[in-house]
Amino acid sequence: MDTIRGSQTQAGTAADQGAAPLTGIEHVATSRLPTRHGEFVMHAYRQTADGTENAVLVRGEVAGQENVLVRLHSECLTGDVLGSLRCDCGPQLEMSLERIAAAGRGVLVYLRGHEGRGIGFSHKVRAYALQDEGLDTVDANVALGLPVDARSFDCAAEILKHLGVRSVHLLSNNPRKKDELVKAGVPVTRVVPVVPPHNHENVRYLNTKRTRMGHDLPG
Ligand SMILES: [Zn+2]
Repeated sequence: MDTIRGSQTQAGTAADQGAAPLTGIEHVATSRLPTRHGEFVMHAYRQTADGTENAVLVRGEVAGQENVLVRLHSECLTGDVLGSLRCDCGPQLEMSLERIAAAGRGVLVYLRGHEGRGIGFSHKVRAYALQDEGLDTVDANVALGLPVDARSFDCAAEILKHLGVRSVHLLSNNPRKKDELVKAGVPVTRVVPVVPPHNHENVRYLNTKRTRMGHDLPG
């Protein structure tokens, strides 16, 4: 796929100066984003295939750096925004931003289009209804004829390379994210678990992630 970096001169960011060319995604714009975790530099990246827009928050200098603390966060409307207790996404997002802020250097890649491990919001709600009837999160996707995990992390790897990140300390419990990054050419020197306290609603879901998807979570 063509590399498109049309707005790089307007953006004028460190990410665009001598950065690796992008494949399958374009860097669109940059601004500051003050948050309750302090101020970040925010980048908008758009996937060329389907127009999916990803948000990337950067703290401190990351270009040319090794062992940069990174979270690849899959969008979860219910968990991130609506306070759902069905999953652990919201608390994982908060913990990741806290840790990046405390480290003074790091990147949060917020991956849109990853809702329900990539099946989309409507299918996720259908899967929740099946889970309320007793299926677990894996079997619910299968019953709907959908993949258990449809997410791609190639664009995240492209973004990290474009930002000039040399190697990563990955905030994740999911070994697949590490494998996908390494496969895409981003070295992962350490995996840092992000384990928020569980609640009565998500304990079964977390058990399924541990036993059926190989997530590194306490039993
Ligand atoms: Zn979630």
